[in-house]
Amino acid sequence: MPSNVVTPEFLQALRNAEPVLWLRPGPEDCRVDAPAETGLTTDQIAAAQARFDRFAPLLAELFPELQDSGGVIESPLSRTPKMQAALGLPEAQGTLWIKSDHALPVAGSIKARGGIHEVLEFAESVALREGLIQSGDDYRKLATPTARACFARYQVAVGSTGNLGLSIGVMASALGFRAAVHMSADAKAWKKARLRARGVEVVEHSGDYERAVAAGRAQVQADPHGYFVDDERSVSLFMGYAAAALRLRAQLDAARIRVDAQHPLFVYLPCGVGGAPGGIAYGLRQVLGEHVHCFFAEPVQSPCFLVRMMAGHGQLPGLPAAPSVYDVGLHNRTEADGLAVPRASELAYSAVGGMLSGVYTVADQTLFDDLIRLHDTEGIRIEPSAAAGFSGPRHICLSTAGQAYLAEHGLLAQMPQSTHLVWTTGGLFVPDEEYAHFLNRR
Ligand SMILES: *Cc1c(COP(=O)(O)O)cnc(C)c1O
Repeated sequence: MPSNVVTPEFLQALRNAEPVLWLRPGPEDCRVDAPAETGLTTDQIAAAQARFDRFAPLLAELFPELQDSGGVIESPLSRTPKMQAALGLPEAQGTLWIKSDHALPVAGSIKARGGIHEVLEFAESVALREGLIQSGDDYRKLATPTARACFARYQVAVGSTGNLGLSIGVMASALGFRAAVHMSADAKAWKKARLRARGVEVVEHSGDYERAVAAGRAQVQADPHGYFVDDERSVSLFMGYAAAALRLRAQLDAARIRVDAQHPLFVYLPCGVGGAPGGIAYGLRQVLGEHVHCFFAEPVQSPCFLVRMMAGHGQLPGLPAAPSVYDVGLHNRTEADGLAVPRASELAYSAVGGMLSGVYTVADQTLFDDLIRLHDTEGIRIEPSAAAGFSGPRHICLSTAGQAYLAEHGLLAQMPQSTHLVWTTGGLFVPDEEYAHFLNRR
């Protein structure tokens, strides 16, 4: 069978919202719609990292929780042997690690990377233009009343299912900007309350994520001092995520984890619009090379990146080139609010669609099962979206399709010394009461 054909059974399972594992067919970058020139460069990853460094002293001053790290917003890399056993992943299949972005300070989710980077980039450009700082200055100058009064003339806005709004809203208002977050109907009440407590304007919309984004964009267009963070198209967001790869490389070195032909690294990334996992996958491939195998994880009802990948390989004839999950008959309702996105980012698709290893989907109940497992075995607290990565090792190591991937890439003999890195993407600020509800979903 030519590799751009999927079986009728696969399509039926996708439409029935059953969990599937889809593998990108053919050699790297064999999409039907070859990617438009994205204009992305490796230099931008280093530039994002350097920007975080320039702002670190200021952030340490603005956020007490960043004092110990000197203003660095980073999460630990840890081994989770009890979770590995609970998942039924034999040691002969490699070692399970987690990248704990659920614990990222300030934003409480992976959005601390992209969202905060974009607010910092905007603040830097305003500050330079308005003469608040010169290049090479100590950015702590931006905490003075004069600088804050200047920032207060500007508005930063975003459309979000919740977590992006939290990161943009909290950072923008901490710097003194006016901040507005347009929330979709599926956004959780506690996320709205947390933003309002920080002086962020929360605008609620009855529609889905795409509607909230459109409303936010329209509002800012009417404001000459308005700046809109575009989750679907922003290079700044993307590079904020990509910078994670530089930090991870140092953490892997410190943990003596090698990544080469003999030591493959499998990375499992929960995917909404695709910006966060896309940026990170892009960064990892640039920084660590081809022995990194990236898989995106999506809810069974919201597999927007999966349908985009399939369409790119001519596997969804009759549908638009950039289809939504509604086009395949799914409804986009899921408890994984951070992943409830109907259509993938074209920027993310162009950047990583050609080198992503595959995409798999996860049922909501499995998200809760893994969330509870992680709580019971390791005492780690995450939100449902952040649990999507844990289905990855099962899909890759314990399914027929996964075994076929490993065989095709000559990886079977390397599995004992392989690393499975599950990216846990959010959870730090989930209120106790909410978390208790998650634990009741056994
Ligand atoms: C936003 C988010 C993601 C995915 O990021 P996208 O850029 O939307 O793909 C994953 N997990 C959590 C918890 C998130 O908030």
